[in-house]
Amino acid sequence: MAEYRCSNCGKIITQDELGMKAKCPYCSNKILIKLRPRVVKLVKAR
Ligand SMILES: [Zn+2]
Repeated sequence: MAEYRCSNCGKIITQDELGMKAKCPYCSNKILIKLRPRVVKLVKAR
């Protein structure tokens, strides 16, 4: 699932939340930065 970050308020918006609208549901900003799909990585806790 693609995720976007609003360039104005910095919220993470999923494709689901966006729906057909290409704007931030929180502040109506239209500039969204596409994030890379989350990669599940195992990191050793120290
Ligand atoms: Zn926003």
